[in-house]
Amino acid sequence: MTVSATQQHARPSPDFDAKLARTQALLQRAAAEFTPLTQASSLGAEDSVITHIIQALALDIPLFVLDTGVLHAETLALLERTRATSRAPLTVYRPVQEAVVKFVDREGWDAMYRSIELRKACCGIRKMEPLARALAGHKAWITGLRREQSAARAEVPAIDTSEPRVKFNPLSDWTWGDVWHYIATRGVDYNVLHDQFYPSIGCAPCTRAISLGEDFRAGRWWWEDEAAKECGLHVKKTEGTPA
Ligand code: SF4
Repeated sequence: MTVSATQQHARPSPDFDAKLARTQALLQRAAAEFTPLTQASSLGAEDSVITHIIQALALDIPLFVLDTGVLHAETLALLERTRATSRAPLTVYRPVQEAVVKFVDREGWDAMYRSIELRKACCGIRKMEPLARALAGHKAWITGLRREQSAARAEVPAIDTSEPRVKFNPLSDWTWGDVWHYIATRGVDYNVLHDQFYPSIGCAPCTRAISLGEDFRAGRWWWEDEAAKECGLHVKKTEGTPA
């Protein structure tokens, strides 16, 4: 019998209601004080929760998705469903096709497995450059980062003012159980890859399902050392990676 992600994970923290209230207040404050503001969605569980809360509060916060050209069919299906139901404008940013073709011609489809440099070059073309376009002109953005996701994210603040563009992380103190409790109790549409043991979802070549007992992000760039496992989207400029 298949057990859904909601059945597996939905277990709220004792203070879930207070966390949700703080998240709602933070999003309301972000919408009131930071224009233009946008939500970055990878169409993973956290981002689906944030999109749902924004929608429930009727906040005018648009969202964007980076379609790297190598997303899972399940993620693209959720993108279409989200687009169809979203009250806020949803914009899809794609890489410059010429840059992708040149890179693949030169390095091959499997370049990311050969070295960290090639993997970061691929992330640069497929993610970082489109992200820069998506964020251009925005005062602030909203992400689904949570402290629990990895050691590298253990200090994620709810409001990150360390870069000129403010980053809001409204689920920073939520647990995985909180995320799924929200999804289960509000009937949030989610990426069905989560039912197939993909807790963290990215590009198809660089994401696999995890086994019982493995770390949350063990299925992302699993052939690399733990310390290298960020694509640059959430790495600070001072740390030497394009962000
Ligand atoms: S996650 Fe993998 S496929 Fe996606 S942009 Fe980075 S290296 Fe390329």
